[in-house]
Amino acid sequence: MHWTWKTGEKLLYLTIPEWWEQGVSVGFSTRGGGESKEPFSSLNLALHVNDEQTDVLKNRNLFLTEFDIESGNCVTAEQVHGTKINIVTIEDKGRGMKDKATAFSKCDGLLTQDNIGLLCFFADCVPIYFFNHHMGVVGIAHAGWKGTANKIVAKVIHEIRMGGGSVQDTLVAIGPCIKKCCYEVDENVASFFKSHCDSRILVQHEDKYRLDLSEVNKEILMSAGVPRENIVISNLCTACNPDLLYSYRRDGITGRMGAFIYKRKEI
Ligand SMILES: [Zn+2]
Repeated sequence: MHWTWKTGEKLLYLTIPEWWEQGVSVGFSTRGGGESKEPFSSLNLALHVNDEQTDVLKNRNLFLTEFDIESGNCVTAEQVHGTKINIVTIEDKGRGMKDKATAFSKCDGLLTQDNIGLLCFFADCVPIYFFNHHMGVVGIAHAGWKGTANKIVAKVIHEIRMGGGSVQDTLVAIGPCIKKCCYEVDENVASFFKSHCDSRILVQHEDKYRLDLSEVNKEILMSAGVPRENIVISNLCTACNPDLLYSYRRDGITGRMGAFIYKRKEI
């Protein structure tokens, strides 16, 4: 199981071939190939950053075309660095895809057993994808340092267990995010993680600390029972790749990449 680049019809994106072969389309977009102008150039997929709505909707269509799905068969959420998780059903289709108002409110995790696309937005925070073959469930969570500290990934695993899924059968993919090379945190955040996690997740750099958010999420997943071999981690840092990826920490006002997952058929 691994992340790999795929050149689609019009766009380059990251995917996981082993999930694709099992009926689950997975993608993480780059900033290239879209319609948005500076400072959002060019494939910004998020409406909440005050980009032109028409450009964002065109970009969403461009990205979703790679997965052969219409925007009206997908949903998205208003991400707030919380830990609320919504279970999405076919009745929800289209929510948040054309405007912000209908998106799942204050929600940082989406799970579904239906054939509906889930789309979330990222520029440094950690995208975490879930797939349980036996239960036929897929999901995405959004975790910055707050969502990580509040263990949103453990809550997703809890939901999967409540639905009858086993952790042994649950696969997890951690996508590109800001890595420990670039993610400086203040003393309060550092001391929280120092007292709650393995010391390796913090790197001291002069008098500051740098946090390894993807590693913390991996630790939390393993504490929740997910086997290490079920977890794949992209080593790509959003802040280190200005030509390829948006980074809020690096650029401030900027666009968002999309993390997408879609169960194509009954599995
Ligand atoms: Zn970096």
